[in-house]
Amino acid sequence: MLPVVALVGRPNVGKSTLFNRLTHSRDALVADFPGLTRDRKYGQAKYEGLQFIVVDTGGITGDEQGIDAAMAQQSLLAVEEADVVLFLVDARAGLTVSDEAIARHLQQQNKPVYLVANKVDGIDGDSESAEFYALALGEVHQIAAAHGRGVSQLIKKTLEPL
Ligand code: GDP
Ligand code: MG
Repeated sequence: MLPVVALVGRPNVGKSTLFNRLTHSRDALVADFPGLTRDRKYGQAKYEGLQFIVVDTGGITGDEQGIDAAMAQQSLLAVEEADVVLFLVDARAGLTVSDEAIARHLQQQNKPVYLVANKVDGIDGDSESAEFYALALGEVHQIAAAHGRGVSQLIKKTLEPL
């Protein structure tokens, strides 16, 4: 069974853009993978010589209904079935309350989580990413999913330990 990488984060941070880059598709390549249900979007990825399953999710807002709201359920299930979680935030938009809610949930999971600041193209990535250290999820990995910057390094770092 290939390792499963879940992409989570609030809407519009670039999860689907990263999914498409990793699966080399504009639309999701969806296939049946035993043991995985179909209400998340699965693709087979080959990147940097590594093979894995990547799971795109609709996003978690962590609004007043809480992280357990129905719309977030599929994202939470994706986290449960994943071997590793990439938690995307938007370096341009900055830290939001949704990011904080998701971070609190992920900290309770016994699972490797990598914090990823997307959209660092054309901005000062170091200074725009600094505030995400407040989420207490360790290193902030800078990428620009739309252009591919930082993606190879991220994938090597997250997949090679598995
Ligand atoms: P999702 O809702 O998390 O799946 O986010 P999407 O992948 O749909 O992206 C949301 C928006 O962010 C789209 O307009 C993308 O083109 C844009 N976006 C995604 N990645 C990048 C990036 O690396 N840089 C910039 N500047 N925009 C990006
Ligand atoms: Mg999406």
